[in-house]
Amino acid sequence: MLSNRAARDVATLVHPYTNLSTFRETGPLVLERGHGVWVYDGDGRPYLEGMAGLWCTALGYSNEELVEAASEQLSRLPFTHLFSGRSHDPAIELAEALKELMPCPTSKVFFTSSGSEANDTQVKLLWYLNNALGQPRRKKIVSHVRGYHGVTVATASMTGLPANHADWDLPLPGFLHAGCPHHYRFAQAGESERDFSARLAADLDALIQREDPETIAAFVTEPVLGAGGAVVPPEGYFEAIQAVTERYGIRLVADEVICGFGRTGEWFGSQALGLRPDTISFAKAVTSGYMPLGGVSVDPALYDVLVAQSAKLGTFGHGTTYSGHPVACAVALKTLEIYRRDRIVEGVREKAPQFQARLSALAGHPIVGEARGIGLIGGLEIVADKASRAQFDPKAGVAARCVAFAQDEGLIVRFLAGDRIAVCPPLVIQPGEIDTLFERLGRALDRTA
Ligand code: PLP
Repeated sequence: MLSNRAARDVATLVHPYTNLSTFRETGPLVLERGHGVWVYDGDGRPYLEGMAGLWCTALGYSNEELVEAASEQLSRLPFTHLFSGRSHDPAIELAEALKELMPCPTSKVFFTSSGSEANDTQVKLLWYLNNALGQPRRKKIVSHVRGYHGVTVATASMTGLPANHADWDLPLPGFLHAGCPHHYRFAQAGESERDFSARLAADLDALIQREDPETIAAFVTEPVLGAGGAVVPPEGYFEAIQAVTERYGIRLVADEVICGFGRTGEWFGSQALGLRPDTISFAKAVTSGYMPLGGVSVDPALYDVLVAQSAKLGTFGHGTTYSGHPVACAVALKTLEIYRRDRIVEGVREKAPQFQARLSALAGHPIVGEARGIGLIGGLEIVADKASRAQFDPKAGVAARCVAFAQDEGLIVRFLAGDRIAVCPPLVIQPGEIDTLFERLGRALDRTA
């Protein structure tokens, strides 16, 4: 029997990424407030937020400095925009701060309100750039099977997950998918990580040859595949992939929407994974999730092209009302200041060994085939048979059941398609809370098995 509030929710809301059929019986988890790494439901019951919301609330739930930064900007100037040359201090200062940090050649920053818009902007910029450079055939985008890049028409096409394609008439033509760099699932028997990486790079090379290298604009990748299962690419992977993209003059776009701002123990996942992108997309932890903000880095040569195109076309015809929203920018600026001052990235490096050791220990559980991760991100592969790596019948929803048991134990983790579970707590989680997280997750696994 649903509570009154749950019934009102079911009667009125369409929830993203929710099984809308079973949801009518289960109803929502309605959260009311948060403190530190904890969130509380309407009955005051605490849950350890083991997903940092949706991979974003890096500084936890009660950061008063972020609240003040938002409130101060709301009082002073709640809205202005960046269209037609208008500007404001938070956007200028944030762009300056981000330029300093970027793991790729960056002369400017373009702001969006989400990760999807950031990646969509990347696609549009690539098409625009190649038209301007007289290479109008160079439009195709390659990304990964099980990569996740968003939900707009272009970014859902880049995404390599079935739920984003089936019955959506996607992917659009010109969006191609390379093999998923998940060694546990896709390596051949006895194949080392390096050999697997070399094979995937050879497959990518063959794909590019088949399509005609002159038609490929970019390879887009997350440093760690998040929604695809918190998959850390194998040893030598990006080195091998970059040798291919460089051979054909294909641009490399790093989708840092999850990995950016400390998650892997470096400022950006590209730095942790040996990726040398031409450009990155960011969102989520740039504001610790307190305000919607995303963006892309723009290198000097691309910016020159944008200027030349403006001279020809009269304007740079892209941007949304909320590109560079002043409140979001003010919160992001404060977030970056706190990351630096409180040595948040160094803190991730210090806590990662404990987190990863507790995660790895779960690999001994009868229904866990693999426990993998880096920094403060982890993924579990739920299996029916450890020796053969066979999965449960997808209809049984075993990982989803485990996530429900975790919630019952007072822990929020995330079920991912393909019977996977993700763990991605706020970066400010303390060692005792890491222990609590894994104790609760262990109990949820026991109840599921
Ligand atoms: N890219 C990655 C790697 C993501 O994980 C996500 C969202 O989870 C996105 C892009 C899309 O971001 P948003 O949901 O803000 O549109």
